[in-house]
Amino acid sequence: MKVLVFCEQRDGKLKSHSHEALTVAHRLAGKQAGDVAAVLAGSGVASLAGELKGWGAGKVYLAEASQLGHYNPLHYTSAMEQAVKQWQPQLVLGIASPMGRDLFARLSARLKAPLLTDLVEIKDDMSGGTKPMYAGKVLASVRYKNKGLRLATLRPNVFAATASQGDAQTEALSVSLADERLLKTLEVRKGKSEKPDLTEAARIVSGGRSLGSADNFAILNECAEVLGATVGASRAAVDSGYARHDMQVGQTGKTVNPNLYIACGISGSIQHMAGMRTSKVIVAVNTDPEAPIFSVATYGIVADLFEAVPLMTKKFKALLD
Ligand SMILES: Cc1cc2nc3c(=O)[nH]c(=O)nc-3n(C[C@H](O)[C@H](O)[C@H](O)COP(=O)(O)OP(=O)(O)OC[C@H]3O[C@@H](n4cnc5c(N)ncnc54)[C@H](O)[C@@H]3O)c2cc1C
Repeated sequence: MKVLVFCEQRDGKLKSHSHEALTVAHRLAGKQAGDVAAVLAGSGVASLAGELKGWGAGKVYLAEASQLGHYNPLHYTSAMEQAVKQWQPQLVLGIASPMGRDLFARLSARLKAPLLTDLVEIKDDMSGGTKPMYAGKVLASVRYKNKGLRLATLRPNVFAATASQGDAQTEALSVSLADERLLKTLEVRKGKSEKPDLTEAARIVSGGRSLGSADNFAILNECAEVLGATVGASRAAVDSGYARHDMQVGQTGKTVNPNLYIACGISGSIQHMAGMRTSKVIVAVNTDPEAPIFSVATYGIVADLFEAVPLMTKKFKALLD
C-alpha cells in the first residue's frame, strides 16, 4: 500500500506533527519505507528533505518556488495533485491543522477522492477510522465507501512519532503555479509568543474569565514559565480582552492535545471542552465544586486560583529546579 504524506513546514522548520503523520504512514505501509513518500512545499526547504530520512520516507517530492514561501491554497493543491499523479498512492495523509484542513478539502475536491478528517485512529487496512464528533462528546467510526484513492487528516498530538530509517530520495516536482491575480499572500502577521504554538505544546496553562484582567494573566505566565508551558485562554477571557485571540482554546479556537492541561478558573463549557478534552492529564482549579470542568479533570482543586496557582508554581519550581 503506497502512502503519500503532506509534510507541513513553517519558516524552513518542519512541523513536529509531520513526524506523527509519517509514523502512521510507515505503519500503514507495513513498515516499508519504499512505500512512503513525503511532499515538501516551500521556498528554500530542500535541506529539510534529509531530515525526513529519519522518519521512514522512501521518497521526498520537493516543490520549491518563491511563490510557495507562504501557504497558498492554489499552489499547494497543485503541488499535491502533481505528487499524487507521480506516486500513485492508495492514501494521502496529512494533519488536521488549519493548513491541513484547508489543503485536504481542496485536494479532495480536485481529485474527486473521499476525505476522512481529524482521525484519532486509522485502520491498518486504511478502510476507515475513528473521529471525535459533537465537540468531542462521541467517537464516530467512519469508513470509506470507494475502492480507489483515499485522503485522511489526523488529529495533531494523538499519534506517537517514532523515528525510522528511510532513503528519502529527493525528486523535484514541477508545479504549474496558478495566476497570482487569483490569490496572493500579501502579508503574514505572526503572534508575539516565543513559546510553542498551543496546537504543538506539550503543556498548557489556561485561564478563564475569572482572571479578571490581562495583568492577572501574569500568574499563569509565571506558572507556565516554570513548566515550560504555553498559556491558553477561554473565549470569555479573550472576549473580555484579557488574552489574545490566538490563545483561545475551544470550538472556535484551537484544538489542543497536550500531556498536561491546567485549566484555571474555567467553567468547562461544552465549547471550551471541545478543544481540550482529549488532553492526557487535565488539572482544574475552580472555586465551584460543581463546575463542569471537573467532569473531565484528572485532578480537581476546589480553590481560589489566585491562591492555588502561585502555590503550585512554587511547588513546581522546587520540584523541577
Ligand atoms: C458558538 C460558540 C462558540 C464558542 N467557542 C468557544 C471556544 O472556542 N472556547 C471557549 O472557551 N468558549 C467558547 N464559547 C463560549 C463558552 O460558551 C463559554 O461562555 C466560555 O467558555 C466561558 O469561559 P470561562 O469558563 O472562562 O467563563 P465562565 O463560564 O464565566 O466561568 C468562570 C469560572 O471561573 C470560576 N471562578 C470564578 N472565580 C474564581 C477564582 N477566583 N478561582 C477559581 N475559579 C474561579 C467560576 O466558578 C466559573 O466556573 C463559545 C460559545 C458559543 C456560543
